[in-house]
Amino acid sequence: MPSIDTKLIHAGEPKPRIRGAVAMPIFQTAMYEYGGEGAPDELMYVRYNNTPNHAALAHKLAALEETEAALVTGSGMAAISAALLAVLRPGDHLLAQHGLYGGTFGLVTRELPALGIEVSFVDAAAPDTWAAALRPNTRAFYVEAISNPLMEVGALDAVAGFAGAHGLVSLIDNTFTTPVNFRPATLGFDLVLHSATKYLNGHSDLVAGVVAGRADLVERAGAKLRHLGGALDPHACFLLHRGLKTLALRMQRHNESALRLARFLEAHPLIERVHYPGLASSPHHERASRLFAGFGGMISFEPAGGLAAADRLLQHLRLPVVAPSLGGVETLVTRPAITSHAGLTPEERARLGIHDHLIRLSVGIEGPDDLLADFEQALAALEVEAAG
Ligand code: PLP
Repeated sequence: MPSIDTKLIHAGEPKPRIRGAVAMPIFQTAMYEYGGEGAPDELMYVRYNNTPNHAALAHKLAALEETEAALVTGSGMAAISAALLAVLRPGDHLLAQHGLYGGTFGLVTRELPALGIEVSFVDAAAPDTWAAALRPNTRAFYVEAISNPLMEVGALDAVAGFAGAHGLVSLIDNTFTTPVNFRPATLGFDLVLHSATKYLNGHSDLVAGVVAGRADLVERAGAKLRHLGGALDPHACFLLHRGLKTLALRMQRHNESALRLARFLEAHPLIERVHYPGLASSPHHERASRLFAGFGGMISFEPAGGLAAADRLLQHLRLPVVAPSLGGVETLVTRPAITSHAGLTPEERARLGIHDHLIRLSVGIEGPDDLLADFEQALAALEVEAAG
């Protein structure tokens, strides 16, 4: 099998090339002329996810994730909601990892219960606690490869095994790891989900999602999406397709720079705690080392001095942009309490350990020395303030 670097460039590309075009052309048309198709969903239409731009991306993403099938969606949340609604019915019960991305937490705690679907949260790192949370109507188990924002790595191989043994559909959000660092389907996960807004596209200029996995389940998620909407526009398909080609190179830099920065932060006296699975001190390090080819570009940390120090530090940093979201070429910093996890109540955040002064850092691909120097100067400025 070719390496993922090669698949990023060549998998899913149309054969023969369309009029010889080396890059996948944009088919900027919503509908296509009727060509005698037998079934209504064989008609090509952007919302049906079956135009040439959607099909090329689907093939590439399935090759990258080593799954039978894939589809692209209009956002990461469109992928997650379509996938969950494809596997859960009213009366069903979902097991989910505690500490999920805020949007997913909102979906499973606010929307699913309104549809008669219940959820229980479990510690994804403690397999011996899962059986007690099972109910006769449990249908699925949902986890994140690296959780947002505390960078926890569950016992992911055990999740897939447990789901298989109990007839549950296993779903995993692979946004933080990407198929370059981790391919969950090879462990037996049934559905692999992404916010392609992040690393897959990598340029912070579109919103998109991916559902990859078993062909029957991807087909069901696609059918849901046809009713719910949430399709990806052809021009955004083109941009995502283009962004994907450099994913391996970008991830290599994200992996290297984040590890360097995490080690620097951990050693700094003004930093109380660093969450990064690449650190030998992380409780998730052993599992992450065994499962992943790299630890990714996401770090979170808590400065000494609480909220005031966190806000001052963000002001002193010159290179990173203070903005939500992640996975782009530029370094971004944010406080999850007021962005990605603002939808949770303060009690919910406190229970999960998402403190107000927690800073989440999406390490970009700028020169690693420049990034490090910027953190050095920002922390030095904070030190001067603290002394004064
Ligand atoms: N999954 C994770 C891990 C995320 O961090 C996000 C967004 O921040 C999403 C899913 C949702 O993605 P989108 O904003 O593309 O809908």
